[in-house]
Amino acid sequence: MTIASEGYVRFLGEAERLGAVPIWVHTHPGEDSWPKASRWDNEVDKQIADLFRLRSGTEYYSMLIVSPRPRCFTFTGYLQSESGNPVPFGRAWIVGDRIASVRAFDFPAPPLHAAFDRNVRAFGGGIQQTLADLCVGIVGCGGTGSAVAEQLVRLGVRDFVLCDPDQLSASNVTRVFGSFPTDIGRDKVDVVAAQLARIAPEAEIRANKSMITSEETARELCECDIVFGCTDDNAGRLVLSRLATYFLTPVIDCGVLLSSGAGGQLLGIDGRVTTLVPGQACLVCRGRIDTKRAGTELMTPGERKRLEEEGYAPALGRVEPAVVTFTTLVAATAVSELLERLVGYGPEPRPSEILLRCHDREISTNLQEPGPRHYCHPDSGKLGLGVTTPFLEQTWPQ
Ligand SMILES: [Zn+2]
Ligand SMILES: [Zn+2]
Repeated sequence: MTIASEGYVRFLGEAERLGAVPIWVHTHPGEDSWPKASRWDNEVDKQIADLFRLRSGTEYYSMLIVSPRPRCFTFTGYLQSESGNPVPFGRAWIVGDRIASVRAFDFPAPPLHAAFDRNVRAFGGGIQQTLADLCVGIVGCGGTGSAVAEQLVRLGVRDFVLCDPDQLSASNVTRVFGSFPTDIGRDKVDVVAAQLARIAPEAEIRANKSMITSEETARELCECDIVFGCTDDNAGRLVLSRLATYFLTPVIDCGVLLSSGAGGQLLGIDGRVTTLVPGQACLVCRGRIDTKRAGTELMTPGERKRLEEEGYAPALGRVEPAVVTFTTLVAATAVSELLERLVGYGPEPRPSEILLRCHDREISTNLQEPGPRHYCHPDSGKLGLGVTTPFLEQTWPQ
């Protein structure tokens, strides 16, 4: 058997145009088959690897073998540079309306700890294993973010990227899980990281103390499987919205808005959890970002003060009301959204936004399609585009 190059050369050109690495994929059919390279497969790799590199303009060659399994699939594959050893694929992360993780054939899951027995009784060992395999980013380690982190680590997540540039204040202790009065003045990420380490000493935790609006932080987040947006800054949410499109990283973005009258009497309690996955409108299309405020947030303090005085910029730095009960409620709603998409216990079509009107004791949901000419629309060509120059095709503060 020979494989005619006319079948794939066109796609190598397409990969070069996109700046992507082409992957040579084939199946080993049958539910009892092994997705392992045969002698013939190795021979083919040797024959086509150089052609693949040359025609797609990348130094990498990559191959993938897929075999069916009941209700799922299994696979092996690798990525290899011209001079290096093949790097095997360990796990496939599948993103869409539902999300799923599949370990490679050569990377069987370690036995689950008995501590998770009650979870496993609820949603099965496969989901528990997925939670253990996930790398989760949490942007914002305040009331909502710390409550998200606390639940995730207790659920069994063991790999975190935490981002928050702020220090813990006395008023944060009323909401931030794992914080004590002795922590006042410490970086919030360190306070939350210490709490996660107390619950799971083996967890891997990266604590990032810069804004998500810094390019370096955004690049670190694109390595996460999923990101929780727990920040109230609009410029940061613009970055998360793009990240969800360019890297197909599901983003679960949440917000809490308390409306209080002049005398401090609570009038409205609104919570929002928006899930950004391919095929659903981004935060900009949904009107969930105040772009004018986002612009002001990115200014230097001097620029901002001048424009505020001239009345051109919305005043920032106003202290918003916040109560632990509501930040925790919204955090739990956000984490349960991850569980629903892994387990699939809810009805279809799956809503991509949950609105909690706590004052009315009402919950509503909605779905929204991407705006026709926006980057989140499939026709834009931006879905899964990956690393671009500039990163996320946006301008970054220097
Ligand atoms: Zn084969
Ligand atoms: Zn959009």
